[in-house]
Formats: sequence, C-alpha cells, structure tokens
Amino acid sequence: MAVSRLQTDPTTLSKLGPDLISDLKANLWPIDCQSCGARLGRWRTSALEVQAAEDGFATASLHHPRCRPPAWLDQPLSVSGSRASLSWRAGCMLLPPGDVPIFLVNPSYEYALLRQVDGKEWRIATLDPFVSLGFARDFPSQSVPPVPALAAMIDGDRISVAVRHEGAVMHSWHNIPIAPEISTVVREWEHIMVAVTTLLDVRKPIPLDLLRTLIGARKVALGPARLTSVRFSEHAQALKPGDFAETPSAFRT
Ligand SMILES: [Zn+2]
Repeated sequence: MAVSRLQTDPTTLSKLGPDLISDLKANLWPIDCQSCGARLGRWRTSALEVQAAEDGFATASLHHPRCRPPAWLDQPLSVSGSRASLSWRAGCMLLPPGDVPIFLVNPSYEYALLRQVDGKEWRIATLDPFVSLGFARDFPSQSVPPVPALAAMIDGDRISVAVRHEGAVMHSWHNIPIAPEISTVVREWEHIMVAVTTLLDVRKPIPLDLLRTLIGARKVALGPARLTSVRFSEHAQALKPGDFAETPSAFRT
C-alpha cells in the first residue's frame, strides 16, 4: 500500500466511502507535502484534503496534518497547471514478449483527480486526461500510430518525454536514464511506449509480472511516443581506436 497512514475527516469519509479511500491509499504516495513542499515521511501520517467543484470533479492531495488538516472543501478547483511540489518518477524497460520498449511513469505521487459518476459515486480519474489525449487502456495487439501529443527525445544515455496539449506542455518527464540496449530498440522502432500509472512506485525496480497484471486490469494508460530527436553523447561520438583499424580498400595500394 502506498500511503500507510492517512488522516481523513468525517465528511470526506462519508462522501467517498471506505472503498474509494482504500483506492486512494493505493494511488497516493507520501513524498512531498502539497502545502509546504517538505518531505512527508514514509511512516508519518499524511492528511487528505479534497477540493470538490460543482461539475463533478474533485482533487485529492496529501499534506502534513499541521499544514492542512484533513478536510472536504467545496470550492472551484485551482486550474493553475503548475503543481510545484507534485512528484513524478519514470524509468525505462523492455517488456516481454516482444521486448517492447516502455517508458513507465507515475506522473502524480501526491495528487489524484476524482470524478463523480452520475452524481453519485466517486472514482479516481487521474488517467482520464491521458485517455482524452489518445492513450489507450489496452496494450495494442498490433502497431498503432504514435499519440500526437507525445514526443520523445534521446540525449546520450538519457531520454525525455513531453506531453503537449493545445500548444502548452502538460508534462515534461526529462533526463531519465536509458540503457544502451533499450535505446537501440527505441532508435530502431522510432518510438517508445509511454505507460502511465499511479499504482506503482517507479523509484523502485518494477517486477514485470506486476506491470503486466496492471496493464491486464486496464489500470495503465498506454500511448506510443514518436522519437523526435536523437543526440549522441560526446562519449559515443568520440572516435575509438577501432575506427582506424581497417583501411578502406579504395585507399589500399
Ligand atoms: Zn507541509
């Protein structure tokens, strides 16, 4: 479970219900307080603050209890896209079978988007904006065109992925280490599969079976990102002794 200790107020508990609170505990991770930006601490208690708008959307976020006591607030959502303290983490892997190159990202450790279904039950909707941009909930059984909102850039032994919407950069997950064997496949295929989930702590090694299970349960948003630029590191560009080992036949006498 991601958040082991979560303080909730009675209003939030009655509006969301124990099942959704339990879902939130699995989808939220206590890294940084969304009020002061300081560490929350893995074993300390975090406070859950929910801001609910009238249109059936709400946000849930983690705070130090001293910064924000647990609360349900009926107020318009702040739509300032920048959540300075929001943590994200990403990593690369090859997913068998087929060794599909994956850029796995948890874009939102301490914050979840909630949506009310038919004016009644609430559910977690953090991945919905990605689905709106063209991500799928199912792993494609065949090659699908890249998601236009996505772009991947390789710079030496690092990869970055940007998500754009209407000219604005929604997410920029940058400078993620990529192993040479994965980088080679991405350059060959000219795309990488971006896999978005809030159910995994990408700071740790991810068991591939667990990732496959979450994909099978449609809990991961998937979209191929076109590789738009490749820069080789200075190390890779430097001539090596072997580069001079053979004299081209045209120059032989
Ligand atoms: Zn704080």
